[in-house]
Order: sequence, then C-alpha cells, then structure tokens
Amino acid sequence: MTTTADTSRASTDSMLERAWAALEGVPDPEIPVVSIRELGILRDVRRAADGVLEVVITPTYSGCPAMAQIAEDIAHALEITGLGPCRIETTLAPAWTTDWITADAREKLRAYGIAPPTGQCGDDAATDAGQNTVTEKALRFVPPAALVPPACPHCGSAHTERLSQFGSTACKALYRCLDCREPFDYFKPY
Ligand SMILES: [Zn+2]
Repeated sequence: MTTTADTSRASTDSMLERAWAALEGVPDPEIPVVSIRELGILRDVRRAADGVLEVVITPTYSGCPAMAQIAEDIAHALEITGLGPCRIETTLAPAWTTDWITADAREKLRAYGIAPPTGQCGDDAATDAGQNTVTEKALRFVPPAALVPPACPHCGSAHTERLSQFGSTACKALYRCLDCREPFDYFKPY
C-alpha cells in the first residue's frame, strides 16, 4: 500500500466511514444479536501513518476467550469490504464496563432472553460468601454495591433469584424467575 499525496483527508474519512459500517455488522461471538460496537468492545477505527487501518478493541473481560474470535471477525469484515489488511490494537485502559452497552443493545439482550445489566458495576461476587470468585474480581477495585436483582426478560417480573454466579459464560450469572419459572442469563454489571 502506498501513501501518496492524493490520500486526502476526505478519502481517509470515507475509508473510516466504510470501515465503521463494515464493523457495525460484526456480532459478538457469544451474543450474536448484538454487535461488538453496541457492546462497547469496538473503541476506535483510525488510519495509521503507514496507511493501514487500525481497529481498537477493549475486551469485556481480560482473557475473555471470545477476543480471538472477535479479532478474526474484524479482520474478515474489513477484508471482504476491500479495506484489509488491518491491525488490531487491544487496549485495556480504560477498562471495559457494562455502562458502555448501548440502550439499543440492552433492549436486544432482553428480547434475546438475557437480562441486561442493572445499575452500575454492582459487585455481587463480593457478597458471595463461600464461592471462589477471587480470580475474576481480584484486579478490580469496585466497592460492593447493593445488588439490584434483574427483572425477568421473559415476563418482566422483578421477583427473581440467582441460581449460579456463572451462567453460559463468565460474563453472566444464571437466574430464575419466581413468577414464570423460566431460567435466564443475567449480564452482570461490571
Ligand atoms: Zn418471568
């Protein structure tokens, strides 16, 4: 790839626009109804000095096994749009938080049967006496907050109970609705 004088600001802008549009279609590998942009994993798309696209992502959890898949999906999406190859930069600061999940994505999660995170960064793990959650939370200094039980994504009832600290993935806890009796995943505030 050569960077020439005609690589104007405008062409960079349109390139970035196309890249954002292409990446808009990259779903989260674990929750395919929401995109990595909607989850706040996709942080930035920029053009490096050498003309190569750089995509900045922040993992939801450090060591989240989905990140390798996400990087592959990003590379593929840009490749088929004719924008590849790209570089993928992983940034850990600021740390990802469920606060970055868009309002649209929260609705999509609920429709998918996953209760979206409530409140802000409630550390319910710390209140889980007897369960080993040290590895997950040791690096975060979030004060334990009052745990707001999530509403059932199926019937909307606030009458729910937690069955397990971990649901289908480490990012989620398993709950059950005491009214409609359906179990559901809760995307833990983080
Ligand atoms: Zn219910």
